[in-house]
Amino acid sequence: NDIAEGLTRRVETVTDTLSESLFEPVIRLGVTGLSRAGKTVFITSLVANLMDRARMPGLVAAADGRISAAFLQPQPDDTVPRFDYETHLAALTGPEPSWPASTRAVSELRLSLRVRPTGLLAGLSGPRTVHLDIVDYPGEWLLDLALLDKTYAQWSADVMARIAPRAQAADYLQLAQATDAAAPLDEPVAQALARAFTAYLTAARAAGISDCTPGRFLLPGDLAGSPVLTFAPLPMPAAPGRKSVWHEMERRFEAYKSRVVKPFFRDHFARIDRQVVLVDALSAIHDGPAAIDDMRRAMSDILSAFRPGRNAFLTRLLMGRRVERILFAATKADHLHHSQHKRLTGIMSALTRDARDRADFAGAETQSIALAALRATTEETIDHKGEPLDCVRGTLLNPDGSRGRQAAFHAGDLPDDPARLLAPAREGAQKWLDAEYRIMRFAPAPLSLKPGEGPPHIRLDRAAQFLIGDRL
Ligand code: GDP
Repeated sequence: NDIAEGLTRRVETVTDTLSESLFEPVIRLGVTGLSRAGKTVFITSLVANLMDRARMPGLVAAADGRISAAFLQPQPDDTVPRFDYETHLAALTGPEPSWPASTRAVSELRLSLRVRPTGLLAGLSGPRTVHLDIVDYPGEWLLDLALLDKTYAQWSADVMARIAPRAQAADYLQLAQATDAAAPLDEPVAQALARAFTAYLTAARAAGISDCTPGRFLLPGDLAGSPVLTFAPLPMPAAPGRKSVWHEMERRFEAYKSRVVKPFFRDHFARIDRQVVLVDALSAIHDGPAAIDDMRRAMSDILSAFRPGRNAFLTRLLMGRRVERILFAATKADHLHHSQHKRLTGIMSALTRDARDRADFAGAETQSIALAALRATTEETIDHKGEPLDCVRGTLLNPDGSRGRQAAFHAGDLPDDPARLLAPAREGAQKWLDAEYRIMRFAPAPLSLKPGEGPPHIRLDRAAQFLIGDRL
């Protein structure tokens, strides 16, 4: 009976999937970026602006009036947490707007669009339904791909060498040096090491350092405290025995790869059709040359996930399937007057150019853009010592989360040639956005939306056009 029932269900699923892909196309849109890059705000505003399309002239199907309806539906994956759209939207659009809680793990949301076809088909068939499955996941988890190619010994050696000069790592390095990795494992020792290593990663992240693997140490999802997350890099001892700290750490590192990293790539990453990679480039630029170097390294690690030829596991997993389009978006562009946006886009393209030139992402179409998913500022030009100065005006967010004073700011200028900013860090390298950017933490502005209007944004419609416009 079980078998018959199982078979029936299998046949039903196959027919559902078939008819769905024949008549109701599904686009799986991945949204990623390192923590605080702006994923939650991006998805919330994108969905709100696809439901109410008055601010989406750059999305051709919307401008042509071919999208007759957009509505949320139950998502296809029953075991993936749902993206908490309603709560996030309420935070952004309430009478006392606040920023929503950030992405901590993978989540999903299905938005379905009723679209009238164009061209020859327009007269012949009625509206179709196109499902947009948005998958939100931390960019930190993509960085873990690099771990798959490494043994515990290699990873340990790499990490120890890389963190040695970093001030944030001093405590961890001291503890690691003091640990006898050949001694029999004592669980509290493993826990103390993992805790200290996580503290290092957290401090490094706060200092603007992006290469913070293993990704789950910072964003553990539901794995916090489990043995797969209770390991850390160590100097290799001469003769580690079977029951040694080293051996057990090695075992957990391997478990992390096979039980955490691989399933994420298999269950989520491998099924994505379109991808947007969000980057808080402005913060890195403000933090200075070392942070920019770091952002570039993290970008190239993230991007290697989209060049599957580089990784045997991924190549097998994807079996020739690929992401069709990738958008690289510098977020929070509302911190700059629009006269600077072209330069920001230029920096984004330069950042990804290396990787793009080498492999063109196995044929995926790529584009760079500067956007603000939720515009928190307005523009104005003020008189500064007799000279016009292009500014943005917004309400500052106090450290306690309350709304502070309103003022006009000039973050400084970006270089017109990205090479001036992206040149490898060197002594005395010029700092950009040095002026007022540090204090520019804006609160979301109270909104009075007219019927049919989504939240205000910058170029979110263009982003949507690139990501899904061709399929509508
Ligand atoms: P996530 O960690 O990638 O999910 O990042 P969030 O979407 O939570 O964004 C992190 C923070 O960046 C938010 O709390 C805001 O302070 C800021 N932010 C994100 N998007 C925008 C934007 O479009 N404009 C402005 N001014 N700030 C933004």
